[in-house]
Amino acid sequence: MGKLTTDRLAEDLAALVGRANVVIGPIPEAYTHDEALELDPVDPLGVVFPASADQVAALVHYAVNSKLALVARGSGTGLSGGAQPVVGGLVVSFERMNRILSIDTVDQTATVEPGVTLAQLEDALAGTPYFYPVYPGEMSATLGGNVATNAGGMRAMKYGVTRHNVLGLEFVTGTGLRTRSGGAYVKTSSGYDLTQLLIGSEGTLALVTEVLVRLSLRARTRTLVLASFRGFEDVAHAIVAISEHGLLPSILEYIEATGLQSMARHAGVSLGVSSEVAATASAYLMIELEAMNDNDLSWQLTEVMALLNAHRSTEQYVLDEGQRRGLIDAREAAFWTVKELGAAVILDTVVPRSKLAALFAGAATCARDHGTLLVGTGHVGDGNVHLSLFQPDPVPCHAAAESIVSLAIGLGGAISGEHGIGSAKRPLLIAKESPPRLNLLRAIKSVFDPNNLLNPGKLL
Ligand SMILES: Cc1cc2nc3c(=O)[nH]c(=O)nc-3n(C[C@H](O)[C@H](O)[C@H](O)COP(=O)(O)OP(=O)(O)OC[C@H]3O[C@@H](n4cnc5c(N)ncnc54)[C@H](O)[C@@H]3O)c2cc1C
Repeated sequence: MGKLTTDRLAEDLAALVGRANVVIGPIPEAYTHDEALELDPVDPLGVVFPASADQVAALVHYAVNSKLALVARGSGTGLSGGAQPVVGGLVVSFERMNRILSIDTVDQTATVEPGVTLAQLEDALAGTPYFYPVYPGEMSATLGGNVATNAGGMRAMKYGVTRHNVLGLEFVTGTGLRTRSGGAYVKTSSGYDLTQLLIGSEGTLALVTEVLVRLSLRARTRTLVLASFRGFEDVAHAIVAISEHGLLPSILEYIEATGLQSMARHAGVSLGVSSEVAATASAYLMIELEAMNDNDLSWQLTEVMALLNAHRSTEQYVLDEGQRRGLIDAREAAFWTVKELGAAVILDTVVPRSKLAALFAGAATCARDHGTLLVGTGHVGDGNVHLSLFQPDPVPCHAAAESIVSLAIGLGGAISGEHGIGSAKRPLLIAKESPPRLNLLRAIKSVFDPNNLLNPGKLL
């Protein structure tokens, strides 16, 4: 685009959202990427910061007339390139749409603008008996980003993922239609569920301008057990046993021994694991239990301990409050640890819980076959495993990633459990998804965004 046209674009956008809310020209580095490890930064034409749904709708109308791509952006913490800019397009940053519009303790809901962060919502709910339970480790992520990726996180086994905790949306489609879906009711059988369709659509169908979430009651008491295991198979069987027993830990995470050491060191937390146990452990389970009263908590703890012992856990540590918080914080920061250590790709495949043992064993073989180091953590309570691949050469790294994803799909699983497809995993989706299903997805996209202006080249 020539200088004149760029000036004109800046003027047009300024007329829509105000001059101070448009960046054209040198783009601040933060807006050129998200946190996907395998992607290079891209300079967009500009960044726009709308302040209302009206401004978002006006922007979409302008983009349609000018044939400009729009890439929605929350906080840019995504791990699949969903918010990565596209060349010649605009980034629509929702950071000014950051108001909590209402907290309703009767219907147990909160209504927020999409740029509200998880940390902000948590602070706003601090004085109430309620909390928003979706807990992807990164609290600077926005509710809009969470909706678009169907974010999961550590508490999904008990509380579900974003799609189980969002009741309604306001959104603007790729034609500029501004409308709502859902409402503050618990259930509905009233036709196609647009809320659920938009959750996980990664900004390719509509720009979300308001989110209505369901709140949960906070537990009154909790404890965290760290259990060591010699073998991955034992870990996998213990996870299935905990679930089969009807226990619902609020956190059930698996961490490979090397990962736990690095994470604890990185976070400066001492977990009290003895050197004898550490020397023989290949993996740990981190199990947080919570309850409304001490009796229930102590019953859960007794049951979990018995199951861990029955499944050959070598040692169990009931952490004190400081260690509990420290380990959760360390687990939250696992991404930064593996990034610093040089991970090239993070996969977040998901399989049925019963297939975790096969995934652990098969993924290790895939990595070995391609000369790639693999370190795993994961929200295994819901079958979601995060596998960090360490291999500087992209060819074997991609081959290892591809074979692990094929393995997971073969086990009845899926490419991504929570990070989304974006541009990083798009080639995998295109290669692995059945053509008729891809056609169906493309047909849906063409209804919401017939000009292919919303996040083109992502997901599909
Ligand atoms: C340390 C760390 C830990 C993490 N842990 C987890 C985890 O445990 N579980 C998990 O699920 N994720 C995790 N993530 C990934 C990330 O936090 C989530 O994907 C989150 O939902 C992204 O939110 P965001 O606001 O940063 O969105 P962005 O990265 O800015 O965008 C993500 C996607 O949402 C779209 N989007 C954003 N806002 C809107 C909107 N208003 N309307 C339409 N589309 C929109 C973007 O176009 C993009 O496709 C982690 C990331 C980091 C850095």
